[in-house]
Amino acid sequence: MLQNVLLEREIYSSEEHRMMQKMIQDFINNEMLDQMDEWEKNGMVNREIWERAGELGLLCIDMPEAYGGSGFDFSFSALFIEELAKKGVTGPGFSLHSDVVAPYLLKYGTEAQKQKYLPAMATGKMIASLGMTEPNCGSDLQAITTTAVDKGDHYLVNGQKTFITNGCMCDISLVAVKTRKGTETESISLLIIDSDSEGFKKGKPLKKIGMKAQDTCELFFDNVKVPKENLLGEEGSGFKIMMTELARERLIVALNAIGGAEGAIENTIEYTSTRTAFKQPIAAFQNTQFKLAECSTQLQVHQAFLDRCTLLLSKHQLTAESASIAKYSATEMHNKVVDECLQLFGGYGYMWDYPIARMYADNRVARIYAGTNEIMKLLIARGLYKELFEQMKANKRNK
Ligand SMILES: Cc1cc2nc3c(=O)[nH]c(=O)nc-3n(C[C@H](O)[C@H](O)[C@H](O)COP(=O)(O)OP(=O)(O)OC[C@H]3O[C@@H](n4cnc5c(N)ncnc54)[C@H](O)[C@@H]3O)c2cc1C
Repeated sequence: MLQNVLLEREIYSSEEHRMMQKMIQDFINNEMLDQMDEWEKNGMVNREIWERAGELGLLCIDMPEAYGGSGFDFSFSALFIEELAKKGVTGPGFSLHSDVVAPYLLKYGTEAQKQKYLPAMATGKMIASLGMTEPNCGSDLQAITTTAVDKGDHYLVNGQKTFITNGCMCDISLVAVKTRKGTETESISLLIIDSDSEGFKKGKPLKKIGMKAQDTCELFFDNVKVPKENLLGEEGSGFKIMMTELARERLIVALNAIGGAEGAIENTIEYTSTRTAFKQPIAAFQNTQFKLAECSTQLQVHQAFLDRCTLLLSKHQLTAESASIAKYSATEMHNKVVDECLQLFGGYGYMWDYPIARMYADNRVARIYAGTNEIMKLLIARGLYKELFEQMKANKRNK
């Protein structure tokens, strides 16, 4: 039933979208679902699945073909994100790699950097991570303390990052570092660091309450020599770049949320249609119908807004405020939907073998990462009071 809702969405209605959707669904059903237990046991997926995704053209979907990408627009990447989320496949950190790190390199990289990294990333033979968060700062990124000291032809990097997605498996990490003194925002730069550099160490997969198959770990830098040509963009431009690119990352988290909500509702319709109590299907109780009606309403209203944001991103017009609204609202909706759906499964909903239980544990983090939902509200409010805040800043400067 919900399958039809997705197909009716204008944004995914072309023949090419339908063909890609079928290919993605086959990939998930035939090559991923039966590996999930093993991945969870290992705390990470395997390299084969990355390379297979690369073979199918599902990594770096919206990157130009000249750099090994598939050359589609962002709506095809969005489709892949939603389909994975619908089935609760949170193990492979594909979107962080393809839809977050690759665009940084494409947009701000030198030609040599693009040639060196992007084609390898598109094949899945090179896996990327993004190192911003540190043990003592996440929301307040200006406060990072990882340093990169200029040593002429290279930087010497020291510090630590934490909670890094794809951390254990990564071959390269795009790392936020402090390169110089000056105002806090002007002192941050981005370095592409090869994980086989001397002094670069990876921690063990962190034990999380959900997304157990997605590798998340700490990264340590102990006098790591990073060649100057690995600087992304200009020195001191790191904070500005991150603030610009975070909009894309937030939309991705929001897309994941609407895909996840759709999957949860689909699962629940199926379960409540067959499970009986008091001699009738659970679906026959008006409470069940009303709960799912509420969930479906919320999902479809969010789909409409997210479709608009996806189109805007494809045209490079998505604002920080819209991305924050999408991330904040879709993840809150997803959390509520999954909780309501799990309730309708009764005791089985609490059992790990049931996808709804995994979805419940997996989706909680979405209100925290890529900027917490409290930070999203700050950004939305900043947009509402733009003139007043600028005036207040100017007054402070003039004092
Ligand atoms: C599974 C997982 C994967 C992740 N992957 C990555 C990754 O790949 N790369 C990466 O760099 N990071 C990653 N992160 C880190 C994530 O982005 C941070 O956890 C997040 O930004 C929050 O930072 P923090 O944990 O330091 O929380 P804190 O900043 O310490 O926040 C704690 C609480 O204080 C609130 N708070 C903070 N500042 C304000 C304020 N000004 N106003 C109101 N409330 C505020 C927050 O909303 C939160 O509720 C990941 C995290 C997890 C859990």
